[in-house]
Amino acid sequence: MPDHTTHQKTRTVVVTGGTRGIGKAICLAFAGPDTRIYFNYSSSASAAVEIEKIIGDAGGFAKGMQVDVMSGKDVESFFGKILEESGRIDVLVNNAGIARDGLLVRMKEKDWDDVLDTNLKGAFLCTKIAVKPMIKQRYGRIINISSVVGASGNPGQANYVASKAGIIGFTKAVAKELASRDITVNAVAPGFVETDMTGALSEKAKEVLISGIPLGRIGKPEDIAAVVLFLASEGASYITGQVVHVNGGMYM
Ligand code: NAP
Repeated sequence: MPDHTTHQKTRTVVVTGGTRGIGKAICLAFAGPDTRIYFNYSSSASAAVEIEKIIGDAGGFAKGMQVDVMSGKDVESFFGKILEESGRIDVLVNNAGIARDGLLVRMKEKDWDDVLDTNLKGAFLCTKIAVKPMIKQRYGRIINISSVVGASGNPGQANYVASKAGIIGFTKAVAKELASRDITVNAVAPGFVETDMTGALSEKAKEVLISGIPLGRIGKPEDIAAVVLFLASEGASYITGQVVHVNGGMYM
């Protein structure tokens, strides 16, 4: 069997939502002299420039683009530019996500649509385009960021939980479709991770959450990035269609 990563000198990695939190940690974890990193974001242009600089100064390559993952047109032009410059896509990490929490009875239709469109449709749009070069290459690694609540459920997050459970089903279906082309598709389900998304929680709420985590701490974005990096490595080449829970034991 060919060893694609060693035959392919430079690998191209695409990370959605790479400007903050988990996505930023994923971009930094992948950075290296033989990796071209493309990431997108919704509005954080200055954060994108900073990440490009950190990775560039360390001898790597990273390029951020403002691309709304909800828009098929935006996504098409994003991948078009990547393919024009790199000619291939080795790894896709579907990470961009939002939460618009509220109890079901009060949930606005727009909050349902925005969350499903960003978290689930966004992954569909990006994956659909990225798999075309992967199929031609007969190689690819797709890693979708789900959430512990996609498996456990959570009150006040019907939209978010539906999107993250949807990501798990999507992962399994696409894994079965693409396995014959040596494309693996897996999901990582983070628990409670310290990012802007969870930053709004009060100290009291955080204490309660931590008391339910056997490892006794909130996760760091780097805890998630390390698992994503592994799933994209040759060591993970026999893993597909799986959900890897990274949550300090809060859900088993
Ligand atoms: P975050 O800090 O809020 O960052 C979200 C990222 O997604 C940002 O880069 C943001 O860009 C980008 N983004 C949002 N909407 C977008 C859109 N329509 N198009 C393109 N980019 C968009 O989030 P995070 O906590 O790192 O979460 C990352 C992923 O992990 C999400 O899928 C989330 O659901 C999942 N997750 C997080 C936790 C947690 O505890 N934090 C737990 C489980 C799962 P801008 O910077 O421009 O806004």
